[in-house]
Amino acid sequence: MDPDPPARRRLFVQNFGCQMNDYDVERMREVMGARGYDATESAEDADLIVINTCSVREKAEAKVASAAGRFRELKQARPGLMVAIGGCVAQQEGERLLKRIPVADFTFGPDQIPSLGALVDRRAAGGRFAATEVVEVEDYRFLTAEPRRGQVPVTALVTIQKGCDNHCAFCVVPATRGREVSRPWQEVVDEVARFVAAGAREVTLIGQNVNSYHGVGLPKDQSGGDDFAELLARVDRVEGLKRLRYTTSHPHDFTDKVADAFRDLRTLCAWLHLPVQSGSSRTLKRMVRDYTRDQYLRQIDYVKSVCPDISLSTDIIVGYPGETDADFAETLTLLERVEYDSIYSFEYSERPDTPALKLALRDNVAPEVKAERLQAVQALQKGITARRLGRWVGRDVEVLVEGDSARYPGQLCGRTTGNEMVNFAGPPSLTGELVTVKIVAARGHTLVGEHAQAGHRLAVIA
Ligand code: SAM
Ligand code: SF4
Repeated sequence: MDPDPPARRRLFVQNFGCQMNDYDVERMREVMGARGYDATESAEDADLIVINTCSVREKAEAKVASAAGRFRELKQARPGLMVAIGGCVAQQEGERLLKRIPVADFTFGPDQIPSLGALVDRRAAGGRFAATEVVEVEDYRFLTAEPRRGQVPVTALVTIQKGCDNHCAFCVVPATRGREVSRPWQEVVDEVARFVAAGAREVTLIGQNVNSYHGVGLPKDQSGGDDFAELLARVDRVEGLKRLRYTTSHPHDFTDKVADAFRDLRTLCAWLHLPVQSGSSRTLKRMVRDYTRDQYLRQIDYVKSVCPDISLSTDIIVGYPGETDADFAETLTLLERVEYDSIYSFEYSERPDTPALKLALRDNVAPEVKAERLQAVQALQKGITARRLGRWVGRDVEVLVEGDSARYPGQLCGRTTGNEMVNFAGPPSLTGELVTVKIVAARGHTLVGEHAQAGHRLAVIA
């Protein structure tokens, strides 16, 4: 008789941070799935807990310590439980993190994800350790996603790049994720096709600076950013793909040819996230962002000219070292001029190993001034967002249905091409379909819709 197969074990991941981290979590689940671990949503059930960290801003890092605290009791109750810390804080802090967080069995950087199973074995054999080796650009291989039919969401993420070669003075990413590497275009196209075959309808291509992608053929210094436009055209041709998005863009590499794709490609959604960070050219220069306010506005005007209904979003930092009231006022006027549909706004926080420290740019804007500026940005944007969302009311829009609404039980939710969330009544069988929905109201950051076949108007939930 065959011996019983080894019992499956369970992996719980507590994730922080950006879409790159979301993507990394999926790869961890696949790597450990092949080693007999099933994903669980409950830390109490887990044999292995991974805290996947983000170090972009101070607050994200503080969350790691409090998450680890939560797992201390679990570990005391079950000594066999392993707790690992991954992601950018782990990469940067390595051994120091082991000292600060005694509950951690080991720490590992993003480049170590393919070896996660071996790291678990190494820890089981004894000793705590930090695995933070960075894989050289030439040796870096992207992990291949293995989507399974019926188990993928309607919208999928596909990575096209890792790391970043820019030197934005505030940013820790180049220190934690290393040099930029583009994924070969055939791998990208194949992965998109696999997601579509498994049931995904929309794909978002992700990277820290997708416009500098250079995996099509030309070396980076000769492609002038246009290589990314070629990649978009190739992905657009994947049969069965309904919608394509990408994030994040950097204005430095956002060429007119990349913008033209909004007009020319069948699947490319009318949505662009183009982080500006500040409306002041003086501040942009000190951020080492490589463009001026006027150059940025020209790009915005151009993209609006090729795609008039495009929805735009951005990132804003307030209270950057040396930011004066006059600099800040320029951020406010830029928001009014561009009319973003939504923004992400942050108070500057000093990060270790960033160029700002080497340039002796001290974090010298008082905390209360940062808080006031953040509040002013958000208050101004609230009105702009309401105005922009209002433009959809009364219109028929195409919505890709993502499934049941988490917020409004009994309703469906989906997104417009501009990435606006719409809630409306309809049968769950519409999940994965592109449907036409009449927008009847805007509420907060979302839209309220009515689907023709649903036959009745959505009750507005207060
Ligand atoms: N690659 C993207 C780009 O070039 O815009 C940004 C990536 S970063 C993970 C996301 C956002 O975090 C940035 O656009 C910036 O607004 C914000 N951010 C990064 N470092 C920051 C810092 N030290 N303090 C406050 N916000 C920061
Ligand atoms: Fe950071 Fe700038 Fe690279 Fe974005 S482009 S990840 S902000 S260094």
